[in-house]
Amino acid sequence: MNTPKRRTPAAKAASRAGASPAPVRALMRAARAAARRAYCPYSRFPVGAALLTADGRLFTGCNVENASYGLTICAERAAAAAAVAAGGRRPFRAIAIAGGTGRPALPCGACRQVLAEFGGPELRVYCAPLKGGGAKESHLLKDLLPHSFKLQRVGNGRMKR
Ligand SMILES: [Zn+2]
Repeated sequence: MNTPKRRTPAAKAASRAGASPAPVRALMRAARAAARRAYCPYSRFPVGAALLTADGRLFTGCNVENASYGLTICAERAAAAAAVAAGGRRPFRAIAIAGGTGRPALPCGACRQVLAEFGGPELRVYCAPLKGGGAKESHLLKDLLPHSFKLQRVGNGRMKR
Protein backbone atom coordinates (compact mmCIF):
# COMPACT_ATOMS: atom_id res chain seq x y z
CA MET A 1 0.00 0.00 0.00
CA ASN A 2 1.35 3.39 -0.96
CA THR A 3 0.99 6.22 1.46
CA PRO A 4 1.43 9.73 0.14
CA LYS A 5 4.81 11.13 1.11
CA ARG A 6 4.96 14.65 2.42
CA ARG A 7 7.30 16.77 0.32
CA THR A 8 9.97 18.56 2.26
CA PRO A 9 10.61 22.26 1.65
CA ALA A 10 13.86 21.22 -0.05
CA ALA A 11 12.00 18.89 -2.41
CA LYS A 12 9.63 21.71 -3.28
CA ALA A 13 12.58 24.01 -3.93
CA ALA A 14 14.22 21.34 -6.08
CA SER A 15 11.06 21.06 -8.09
CA ARG A 16 10.85 24.83 -8.55
CA ALA A 17 14.49 24.80 -9.69
CA GLY A 18 13.64 22.19 -12.30
CA ALA A 19 15.46 19.38 -10.48
CA SER A 20 13.80 16.11 -9.62
CA PRO A 21 13.70 15.28 -5.90
CA ALA A 22 15.19 11.85 -6.68
CA PRO A 23 18.73 13.15 -7.35
CA VAL A 24 18.44 15.23 -4.20
CA ARG A 25 17.70 12.10 -2.19
CA ALA A 26 20.63 10.31 -3.83
CA LEU A 27 22.92 13.22 -3.02
CA MET A 28 21.76 13.26 0.58
CA ARG A 29 22.25 9.50 0.88
CA ALA A 30 25.83 9.92 -0.34
CA ALA A 31 26.39 12.80 2.10
CA ARG A 32 25.16 10.68 5.01
CA ALA A 33 27.38 7.78 3.94
CA ALA A 34 30.36 10.15 3.83
CA ALA A 35 29.53 11.43 7.33
CA ARG A 36 29.99 7.90 8.64
CA ARG A 37 33.64 8.16 7.59
CA ALA A 38 34.20 11.51 9.34
CA TYR A 39 37.30 11.83 11.50
CA CYS A 40 36.00 13.98 14.34
CA PRO A 41 37.38 12.74 17.69
CA TYR A 42 37.46 16.31 19.07
CA SER A 43 34.08 17.76 18.17
CA ARG A 44 32.24 14.46 17.81
CA PHE A 45 30.22 16.28 15.17
CA PRO A 46 30.38 14.21 11.96
CA VAL A 47 29.49 15.96 8.72
CA GLY A 48 29.31 14.54 5.21
CA ALA A 49 28.96 16.32 1.88
CA ALA A 50 28.14 15.17 -1.63
CA LEU A 51 28.83 17.48 -4.53
CA LEU A 52 27.28 17.28 -7.99
CA THR A 53 29.42 18.64 -10.83
CA ALA A 54 28.26 20.18 -14.11
CA ASP A 55 28.98 16.88 -15.89
CA GLY A 56 26.80 14.95 -13.42
CA ARG A 57 29.57 13.36 -11.38
CA LEU A 58 29.32 13.00 -7.65
CA PHE A 59 32.11 13.59 -5.15
CA THR A 60 31.95 13.21 -1.41
CA GLY A 61 33.85 14.53 1.56
CA CYS A 62 33.74 14.34 5.33
CA ASN A 63 35.17 16.51 8.05
CA VAL A 64 38.75 15.62 8.92
CA GLU A 65 39.80 17.09 12.24
CA ASN A 66 43.27 17.61 13.61
CA ALA A 67 44.71 17.89 17.11
CA SER A 68 45.73 21.45 16.23
CA TYR A 69 42.06 22.28 15.53
CA GLY A 70 42.92 25.02 13.04
CA LEU A 71 43.98 22.47 10.43
CA THR A 72 40.57 20.82 10.43
CA ILE A 73 39.03 20.41 6.99
CA CYS A 74 35.27 20.67 6.59
CA ALA A 75 33.30 18.08 4.63
CA GLU A 76 32.25 20.64 2.01
CA ARG A 77 35.82 21.70 1.24
CA ALA A 78 36.98 18.08 1.21
CA ALA A 79 34.30 17.29 -1.40
CA ALA A 80 35.22 20.36 -3.47
CA ALA A 81 38.92 19.43 -3.41
CA ALA A 82 38.12 15.85 -4.49
CA ALA A 83 35.99 17.13 -7.37
CA VAL A 84 38.63 19.60 -8.55
CA ALA A 85 41.41 17.01 -8.30
CA ALA A 86 39.40 14.53 -10.39
CA GLY A 87 38.59 17.11 -13.05
CA GLY A 88 34.90 17.46 -12.25
CA ARG A 89 33.39 20.03 -14.57
CA ARG A 90 32.45 23.43 -13.20
CA PRO A 91 30.31 25.18 -12.25
CA PHE A 92 29.27 22.71 -9.59
CA ARG A 93 25.49 22.38 -9.54
CA ALA A 94 24.54 21.25 -6.07
CA ILE A 95 25.90 20.08 -2.75
CA ALA A 96 24.14 18.07 -0.08
CA ILE A 97 25.36 18.41 3.48
CA ALA A 98 24.43 16.02 6.28
CA GLY A 99 25.23 16.98 9.86
CA GLY A 100 23.67 17.60 13.22
CA THR A 101 20.65 16.07 14.84
CA GLY A 102 18.14 18.90 15.05
CA ARG A 103 18.31 21.77 12.62
CA PRO A 104 20.69 20.71 9.86
CA ALA A 105 24.21 22.08 9.74
CA LEU A 106 24.78 24.87 7.21
CA PRO A 107 28.19 25.42 5.61
CA CYS A 108 30.61 27.65 7.50
CA GLY A 109 31.80 30.92 6.02
CA ALA A 110 35.06 29.49 4.69
CA CYS A 111 33.22 26.72 2.85
CA ARG A 112 30.73 29.19 1.39
CA GLN A 113 33.63 31.15 -0.11
CA VAL A 114 35.24 27.98 -1.52
CA LEU A 115 31.92 26.86 -3.00
CA ALA A 116 31.54 30.31 -4.58
CA GLU A 117 34.84 29.76 -6.38
CA PHE A 118 33.65 26.60 -8.10
CA GLY A 119 29.88 26.65 -7.93
CA GLY A 120 28.88 30.22 -8.43
CA PRO A 121 25.81 31.99 -7.08
CA GLU A 122 23.30 29.47 -8.44
CA LEU A 123 24.80 26.49 -6.62
CA ARG A 124 22.01 24.73 -4.74
CA VAL A 125 22.84 23.82 -1.13
CA TYR A 126 20.75 21.07 0.45
CA CYS A 127 21.05 20.48 4.18
CA ALA A 128 19.72 17.74 6.42
CA PRO A 129 20.47 16.20 9.79
CA LEU A 130 22.43 12.97 9.91
CA LYS A 131 19.33 10.82 10.21
CA GLY A 132 16.01 11.12 8.48
CA GLY A 133 14.63 11.42 4.99
CA GLY A 134 15.57 13.86 2.28
CA ALA A 135 16.94 17.37 2.49
CA LYS A 136 15.28 19.60 5.04
CA GLU A 137 16.58 22.91 3.78
CA SER A 138 17.46 24.21 0.37
CA HIS A 139 19.34 27.42 -0.32
CA LEU A 140 21.06 29.11 -3.20
CA LEU A 141 24.68 29.93 -2.48
CA LYS A 142 24.05 33.56 -3.41
CA ASP A 143 21.61 33.76 -0.48
CA LEU A 144 24.09 32.17 1.94
CA LEU A 145 27.00 34.33 0.73
CA PRO A 146 25.64 37.40 -1.05
CA HIS A 147 28.96 39.24 -1.43
CA SER A 148 31.67 36.66 -2.03
CA PHE A 149 35.27 37.73 -2.50
CA LYS A 150 36.25 37.77 -6.19
CA LEU A 151 39.29 38.66 -8.20
CA GLN A 152 39.22 39.68 -11.82
CA ARG A 153 42.11 39.49 -14.23
CA VAL A 154 42.96 42.83 -15.72
CA GLY A 155 45.62 43.73 -18.26
CA ASN A 156 49.17 42.35 -18.03
CA GLY A 157 48.15 39.43 -15.83
CA ARG A 158 47.32 41.47 -12.76
CA MET A 159 44.30 40.77 -10.57
CA LYS A 160 41.93 43.23 -8.95
CA ARG A 161 38.94 42.96 -6.65
ZN1 LIG B 1 33.24 24.66 6.53
